[in-house]
Amino acid sequence: MSKTTVTLIPGDGIGPEVARAATRVLDASGADIEWEEHVAGGEAVKQFGNPLPDHVLESIRRNKLALKGPVQTQVGGGFKSVNVRLRQELDLYANLRPSRTLPSIPTRFENVDIIVVRENTEGLYSGLEHVVVPGVVESLKIITEKGATRIAKFAFEYARRHGRKRVTAVHKANIMKLSDGLSLECFRKVAQDYPDIEADDKIIDNMCMQLVMRPENSDVLVLENLYGDIVSDLCAGLVGGLGVVPGANIGVHGAIFEAVHGTAPDIAGQNLANPLALIRSGIMMLYHMGKDHEAERVRRALREVIVNQDMKTRDLGGQATTSQFTDALVHKLETDAETGAQYPS
Ligand code: NAD
Repeated sequence: MSKTTVTLIPGDGIGPEVARAATRVLDASGADIEWEEHVAGGEAVKQFGNPLPDHVLESIRRNKLALKGPVQTQVGGGFKSVNVRLRQELDLYANLRPSRTLPSIPTRFENVDIIVVRENTEGLYSGLEHVVVPGVVESLKIITEKGATRIAKFAFEYARRHGRKRVTAVHKANIMKLSDGLSLECFRKVAQDYPDIEADDKIIDNMCMQLVMRPENSDVLVLENLYGDIVSDLCAGLVGGLGVVPGANIGVHGAIFEAVHGTAPDIAGQNLANPLALIRSGIMMLYHMGKDHEAERVRRALREVIVNQDMKTRDLGGQATTSQFTDALVHKLETDAETGAQYPS
């Protein structure tokens, strides 16, 4: 079988460390991937004077698949965010962020299994900001019927395909009556086509309280861009933090898989980063590619390795380094391949 080519963007900060870990693990799974590596972010500014050179976008357009580490974004000025540009230019309209309790990851909650579906191209991330008069600025929140309808459809389709029971629209339509009002109206219309799935809605402030009090009650959440960004970090905190949760940006013509976390400048280059989040994003990518067998192998091996306290990285209360954890996981995958071990389900 021929190899599948995937664009690899290691990114900034801890990006190269976790990207190396993820590619080693995916290679050990037998997924037969050829990595086409490109720089984006800070390193690309140094090399090309542009954080997202055209050839990187072309590579993703051609391969339709990318695994990406985090890239830094300047606060309050500088280049437009690479992530926002990637999502808008490639029309990766759905950001999928699952937060699930993992066995042996220390958290205060049990049985959390929340899927955040975040609209990725509109809302307050449209980049439309201007100075009205000195001292007064305006940021425009764009909601379109097309955008709100397709993200609601994505959430219901996901729910149906994965046997989920309920989709909840999260909004502030009591205040933003036009923008969030339109989102909610589109959601309700789409819901009518999915009578097998319960549909409800919650105002975002109430939703946040419910999430920290009874997270086990939430199922699939669908949110506009900013709310989705914030709520998905909240959900990450429920299941072990940013070092643990994966993510995917999905569009009609391609998909980019990346962790929810950023470049973690405080621990960059120290071999301390938890690579779990990007490895789990890689598992999502394998499923997306139809490589279910390889995805299952990594998923199960990972669960076995992480049980061992010595293999937990510092953010999870352990002492293991990025490379020690990765070595253990690669070793597990290689040993299982040699012995033909079958995992219990
Ligand atoms: P961050 O996610 O980088 O870090 C927040 C905290 O979580 C830090 O204490 C960090 O050490 C810890 N952390 C994050 N990932 C970890 C991991 N894998 N293992 C262990 N600990 C981890 O968030 P930030 O500090 O707000 O952002 C830093 C930079 O990252 C900013 O420039 C921001 O724009 C960028 N960022 C990029 C992306 C992306 O490219 N997808 C996402 C978020 C933030």
